[in-house]
Amino acid sequence: MSQNEIIAMCDRAHVGNYLRYPAVMEEGRGCVLVDADGREYLDFLSGIAVCVLGHCHPAVVEAIRRQAGRLLHVSNLFYTEPQARLADALVRRSFADKVFFANSGAEANEAAIKLARIASPPGKYGVISLEGSFHGRTLATVAATGQPKFHEGFEPMPDGFVSVPFGDIAAMEAAVSETTCAIMCEPLQGESGVRPLGRRYLAAIRELCDRHGLLLIFDEVQVGMGRTGALFAHERLGVVPDIMTLAKGIAGGLPLGAMLTTDRLAAALVPGSHASTFGGNPVSCAAANAVLDVLTGDGFLEGVRETGEYLAASLAALAEKHPALACGTRGMGLIQALVLTEKGAARGTDMVKALFDEGVLANFAGNAVLRFVPPLIVSREEIDRLAAVLDKVLARHG
Ligand code: PLP
Repeated sequence: MSQNEIIAMCDRAHVGNYLRYPAVMEEGRGCVLVDADGREYLDFLSGIAVCVLGHCHPAVVEAIRRQAGRLLHVSNLFYTEPQARLADALVRRSFADKVFFANSGAEANEAAIKLARIASPPGKYGVISLEGSFHGRTLATVAATGQPKFHEGFEPMPDGFVSVPFGDIAAMEAAVSETTCAIMCEPLQGESGVRPLGRRYLAAIRELCDRHGLLLIFDEVQVGMGRTGALFAHERLGVVPDIMTLAKGIAGGLPLGAMLTTDRLAAALVPGSHASTFGGNPVSCAAANAVLDVLTGDGFLEGVRETGEYLAASLAALAEKHPALACGTRGMGLIQALVLTEKGAARGTDMVKALFDEGVLANFAGNAVLRFVPPLIVSREEIDRLAAVLDKVLARHG
């Protein structure tokens, strides 16, 4: 089938909830995607922040192939070695003692919210989140998402969720009531424009939780798994949560989510209290073990920090060169943003389309930024290629 035929078939048969590029992706290697016409794209989106080792990393492909040839699925009524190994590796490398596996970020966050409720005293069920946050699309996680546009048409939202202005610790404290059980936040907001919460703000949130007996949930679905140059973003920020969620990059491209917590809290999830048919699937876990081996290998995360600084510097140079459209950069490791001026923001969608036409994938995220989340194996040469194309696109839209 031709690209146009595939696009027409999908548009006819799939619900229209996605706004897609007119490209049928067929293959991927490293930071390059290839469409059905053989056109190459330099991938600074990595689908989104999922393919942390690039497309079809040999170690991940081999782990999947080996596991797929042995066992695809059993229920969680049984044990599997890939799941045991992954659980062990995650708790050994984090603050946590226990992990629960789900299939996606939203499901991991659902598990976190359910754990916060069941592990808290009766009557405490409320979750405070931040305006601009993104926690998923299930009813509870969309309710926790502090962006009304995602609620519209789906009301009434489940009870017990309130979001407070970003950066305002007094507003957060004012929102705490006798029914509150947890505060949930991303250490760095991804969807709403790569906004780091910063050490001081996070420390103040931790302190507020401790003072009011609340649980702190870090949603590291987007920024965990090496993205910021540490295995988990909060390690770079010096604040430890009670519960952390992971997904996206964890299995390098296969669906998997994880909710990590302490022994004390995990004890509340007794047999039968929560479950997932596919969560912790052996193939996804085998892929995740391969991903984790690479991420924790010698010098890998240090490399992410260095490449991240190089990307940030390249974007900063472009911001300086095109002040009418861009006014700065922000980010951590390999989640970076070019912050747009009002004029730049008005042209953000067009610029992303122009990048696509030039064979570069990025996106226009909330709060007027162009967001770059390349595979963590991206090279300086690939960043130079992005910068050259972006320079041309900015010049054309100035
Ligand atoms: N949490 C964060 C921070 C995210 O960025 C996302 C997805 O973009 C989610 C949760 C939801 O993850 P999923 O789409 O896998 O359900």
